[in-house]
Amino acid sequence: MVVATLALAFVGSFAAQVNALILKYTVDSISDLMVAGEPLSKGFHLLGFISIVLLVKELVYAVVQFGQKFYGEKLRIFISRDISQAITEKILTYRLEFYSATENDSGKLQTRIDLGISSLTRLVQNFFIDILPLFANAIVALALMFYANFYVGLVSLCIIPIYFYISVRQASKLGGFRRRMRMYRETKNNGIISLIDSITVIKSFVRESLEAKRHQDIQFEMTENQLVTRKTSFIFESVKGFVEQIGIVIIIILTAYFVLNGSMTIGAIMFHIMLFNNVSAPIRQLHRIYDEVNDALIYSEGFFDILESDHQIEKSGTYQPEKIIGLLEVRNVDFIYPNGTQALHNVSFTIKPNQNTALVGLSGAGKSTVINLLDKFYEPSSGSILLDGVDLKEYNTDFLRKNIGLVLQKNHIFKGTISENILYGNPNASESEVIESAKKAYIHEQIIALHEGYNSQAHLLSGGQQQRIAIARLFLKNPPIIFLDEPTASLDAIATEQIKKSLDAIKKDRTVIIISHSISQIIDATHIVVLDHGRALETGTHESIYALKGTYFEIFTAMANSLNIDKITQTIEE
Ligand code: ADP
Repeated sequence: MVVATLALAFVGSFAAQVNALILKYTVDSISDLMVAGEPLSKGFHLLGFISIVLLVKELVYAVVQFGQKFYGEKLRIFISRDISQAITEKILTYRLEFYSATENDSGKLQTRIDLGISSLTRLVQNFFIDILPLFANAIVALALMFYANFYVGLVSLCIIPIYFYISVRQASKLGGFRRRMRMYRETKNNGIISLIDSITVIKSFVRESLEAKRHQDIQFEMTENQLVTRKTSFIFESVKGFVEQIGIVIIIILTAYFVLNGSMTIGAIMFHIMLFNNVSAPIRQLHRIYDEVNDALIYSEGFFDILESDHQIEKSGTYQPEKIIGLLEVRNVDFIYPNGTQALHNVSFTIKPNQNTALVGLSGAGKSTVINLLDKFYEPSSGSILLDGVDLKEYNTDFLRKNIGLVLQKNHIFKGTISENILYGNPNASESEVIESAKKAYIHEQIIALHEGYNSQAHLLSGGQQQRIAIARLFLKNPPIIFLDEPTASLDAIATEQIKKSLDAIKKDRTVIIISHSISQIIDATHIVVLDHGRALETGTHESIYALKGTYFEIFTAMANSLNIDKITQTIEE
């Protein structure tokens, strides 16, 4: 396609000069005929010839233009498709660290990607539809001017660098404004998204006017910036228009001089002006092209930063054992988040296979961080984590994650049917396997009671039901290791009670780590690891670490007291 477009530009650039040549020929021929006092019949011959040449040229030009536009557009569409696919595939390979960085807020990321793609594709389209043909025309026209007369060619040639210089100055002046504009757009879009996210809080605190004011400030700064940008552009435009007109005047004077001293025919005046027009046409567009190239460069900076963050690609080893036993050893692990928060200090503990281990600690103690490291979402800053005696770094990351199941406080339920959501655990599973998993998660009965059964929309289910769908999904995945990060924290007591059976079922015969603030889930565990301010303080069975009268004792007593057991016992006894 690129070659075809180049070839068309080449043909088109010659066709574009035909008008100038024909005009020169016509003026010269007519003035000859007039001088010679030739009859009108010869004039008709001339007109016939001119008409045919112009008609053929227009036909060729129409085909060329169609081809250029069509190929230019095709290239644009293909490139747009390819780069949006490329960026989507690329960011999916990035580590969690990339997503948690503030500059990669979902709104900002979306705007940066959208603007990058649209400006890059516009650039490609402009290059093939505007820039290339115009510049090819200009070069051929310039060559013709030099061919006609060296000095005339020289005048045209001298105008180009002046014009170029002005355009470059204009571009560099406007570059800063553009960058700022990009930032405003990103903040604004992000602003709307976070406004919508927090609308309930905004309304409950009656902060509508405060939020509107905040939005207005950005809007006003943006307007100011836009006005300065336009003003600067207009000043530069006027200067450039002036330079161009001076060029035309010099060419008229120069050619008139040559005509008068007899070294050129009268047709040369029109000829040179038309050629100069061809030379200056792309230059006249230069600022627009420059603007767009600059837009593309600035917007694509952000885009390529995302596309080329290769250091963000998840690392993967190659180790893939036949079977995972599930012995996890955390050895002297320190972990610092990219923003500098040290979440773990010299943490060491062992998790035995096929046992339930509870991670206990106050909020912020580092429990979720431990899960993040065990799932290889992040790597320890120092120390190591071994699974069945092999460092997690050595493991093939995909293989590792296929062998680990994660249940979070709020599991992501995708828009779609219940059966699609369960199938996410194993897209190749059969219908009967889906039903089997739902039964194991104790949700089958409720699903079939629904109007559309397994084809009901999953996001319309209650929190507890969604959590069981997530557990059914895990049954289908069937990993030997499971991490449960506060699986019942967002559920009410009844729902917690309801999913208890499915949790017990999924825990059976697997290596399980559970983070929970539920006293029953903690004492259910065979082994307990207590974390406090990023340190693993106590490990052992419930009885053994309770007897230490340390942190676990304190947390456990507080939990038990908060239950108001005396009152509960009294009520139940009555
Ligand atoms: P827990 O699960 O025990 O409540 P976390 O592991 O979530 O605790 O957090 C431990 C510490 O790490 C906290 O101080 C928290 O602020 C910090 N932290 C958690 N996630 C991030 C993150 N993505 N970036 C920076 N700091 C984080």
